[in-house]
Amino acid sequence: MPEAQLRTFRPAVVMRRYVGRFAPSPTGPLHLGSLAAALASYLDARAHRGRWLLRIEDIDPPRELPGAAETIARQLEAHGLLWDDAIIYQSQRLSYYEAALQRLSARGLLYSCTCNRKRLRELNGRYDGRCRERAANPQGSGSALRVRVDQDPEVHYRDLLRGPQQADLRDTGDFVIRRRDQLIAYQLAVAVDDAAQGVTHVLRGADLADSTPRQIFLLRQLGETPPRYGHIPVMVDACGRKLSKQNQAPALLAAEATANMHRALTWLGLPPPGELADAPSAELICWGLERWSEILRDETATYNKNK
Ligand code: GLU
Ligand code: ZN
Repeated sequence: MPEAQLRTFRPAVVMRRYVGRFAPSPTGPLHLGSLAAALASYLDARAHRGRWLLRIEDIDPPRELPGAAETIARQLEAHGLLWDDAIIYQSQRLSYYEAALQRLSARGLLYSCTCNRKRLRELNGRYDGRCRERAANPQGSGSALRVRVDQDPEVHYRDLLRGPQQADLRDTGDFVIRRRDQLIAYQLAVAVDDAAQGVTHVLRGADLADSTPRQIFLLRQLGETPPRYGHIPVMVDACGRKLSKQNQAPALLAAEATANMHRALTWLGLPPPGELADAPSAELICWGLERWSEILRDETATYNKNK
């Protein structure tokens, strides 16, 4: 077909193919709360006929547990959550984070911060930008790198589950993207990798919702298109405490996969029918996928009707 003709067939908006991901830190085995988040992300990806990737966020050795990455992969498999492509390990991607630091630095957005812990504690989570004006702060050990937010501080996005959101990054101030121990901060690594892997949709626990505006901000500064984000309610125990490794939430056992999947699906508002009480997790996933796809179809229909 001649080039001129080809051009007429090119769609006005290029649809990016759905890519979802699960990105656990290997600080311990998965618990029920992490299963619910992984499952939501998995079902949404598969319902969109998208890909679903696994990324191990192992850039914080002091917090990691040897063998946890392997345990997490086996736990996902035992629950029927099978990912596409090879697992990505952040510890092998440090040069990409360095390159992103260079790009931000070239735009004049980075400075080193020598404030000590006591001072930062007194600021109570709202960095006042004191080190910003001191041009020649020493780089390296003992000082963190911060990114300045003052020139583009407002972030708006529509959460896939919670609707329109907005944040002003000046409320918390310039934030750390390389820590004083020289480790790359979570915010930067996540933003760089979501862009590099072409992630279009991030479904994760609401405990990470506070981080989303900073990640959107970084992607914007790096000239990348941020993914869509959705935050699912964090699972709590009988006493209302968040299920987490810190609270000693029990590790998922392969032998309890069916019961775990029932609880995770129920948490997502999809309680499986009684006849699936003993179903293997693969069957529960098929059932959950049907339901999730129906909900998406209903939502699309309602959206088109109201347009
Ligand atoms: N690695 C982060 C964690 O396990 C989650 C990253 C993300 O989903 O954006 O808490
Ligand atoms: Zn400082």
